This record gives sequence, C-alpha cells and structure tokens, in this order.
Amino acid sequence: MAASENSRRTPVPWVAMYHSVNDCPEDPYHITVTPERLEKQLMWLRRRGLRGVSMSRLLAARARGEGHNLVGLTFDDGYADFLTDALPVLRRHRCNATLFVLPGRLGGDNAWDPLGPRKPLLTADGICRAAYEGVEIGSHGLTHVDLTQADDLTLKAETVESRAALGALLGTEVDGFCYPYGTIDRRAMDAVRDAGYGYACAIDPGELNGLHALPRLHIGQNDNALRMYLKYRLHGLRRRPVEGLR
Ligand SMILES: [Zn+2]
Repeated sequence: MAASENSRRTPVPWVAMYHSVNDCPEDPYHITVTPERLEKQLMWLRRRGLRGVSMSRLLAARARGEGHNLVGLTFDDGYADFLTDALPVLRRHRCNATLFVLPGRLGGDNAWDPLGPRKPLLTADGICRAAYEGVEIGSHGLTHVDLTQADDLTLKAETVESRAALGALLGTEVDGFCYPYGTIDRRAMDAVRDAGYGYACAIDPGELNGLHALPRLHIGQNDNALRMYLKYRLHGLRRRPVEGLR
C-alpha cells in the first residue's frame, strides 16, 4: 500500500520533534541528531511521498481536510545550530519547520539541562533571521519551565509574556506554543489557549485532545529507515484523532 494511502487513513497528523542538529557526540538527553542523520530522515520522508512543513501550514491544510502528505517538523528550544546545521538540510529537501524559542533566554544556553553539554541558543537576531528565511517561530515559554509545576503568576508570564515578546520581536502574531518537557495538564492547556495561541504541541497529551494538545514523536539519532517506518505506522494506530482536524 502506498504511503499516501496509509496517511490518508489516519486523521492524526504526524509531527516530528527535534531539538539540536550538530555533530556533538555528548548527548545524555538524546536531543541531538547529526546533519547527516537529518538528511537521511528527510530523504526517507520524501521517498514515501511525504514532505516536512511548519505546524501552521500543516494545521491549515488539515483543517481543510487536505495535506495528508504533509508532516510537521518542529525544533524545540531554539538552538543556534538550527541556522547553521538544520536549515541548510531543510532547504535542500524543500522542507520547512516550526522553531519553538525561549524569549527569556535569548543568546543564552540550555541551563535547564543539568548534565549539559551547554548548547548556545539563538539570539534575537538569529530568531529574526530564521523567520526571514520563512521558518515559523513559536513560543516555548519564556525560560523553559514545566508548566504543570508553575504557580499562577509564572504560568501566565510564561504563556502571555513570551507571546508578547516574540510578537514585538517579529512584528507578527505568534500562533504556536510548545510545552517545555512536553508536560501538559488541563490548567496549562487552558492558560496557553487563553494567552491567544491557536495551537500547542505536547509529546504524549494523555487524555487531553484538540489543537492545544497535539501529540508529537521524538525523532533521534538512532532513527534509521526501519525505525522511522515503525514510528510512522504506530503513530496513526495508537493516537486518537485530533478534534478539529480531518
Ligand atoms: Zn525544550
């Protein structure tokens, strides 16, 4: 059966979650793929008639009942290597992506990962450059806080202020949010929706469903063609349809 027929059967959009793209061999959190591995994974998508796009493009198409050959590509945290190592590979394969950044850590690093290695985050200029290149910019909160553990004031700041800061930086409305650590509960989801975001990416949203609790698949350095195939098939079988999408 052709891939397009498979994907047409599932109302669950396939969304890949990446973080850092470079050759760093030290990777205790499994957040890094090499540019060569990303290249192979995008080639795998292409061979199956699939194409990686931003979340806004994917969701707009799926809301119309179209775009069943589209796959969402997301990059969390806004690492500086997105511009140097990920974007050239994406461009070569005519793919686009959504980059979820932390406006409270511009030019900083991933200090929230105690084991390191420290990886630099994009500066304000770097985020603007990615946006100029056509990449969708979304919010990952201000400073990478687990929203399910945040008090009311922090929850509001992480959702409302990060959206305002990115809107001011980019001069556009920011529609997408991504839950730090992928952790989500009803309270966090409501806060994100109330802050004005049109959609939000989780990892495994459990009982929650809808545009503000989108499931994603972690794609890592070990994901060769066979594992990509299994993840792609199992995603459609395991996940419930997302409400609001066809
Ligand atoms: Zn993150």
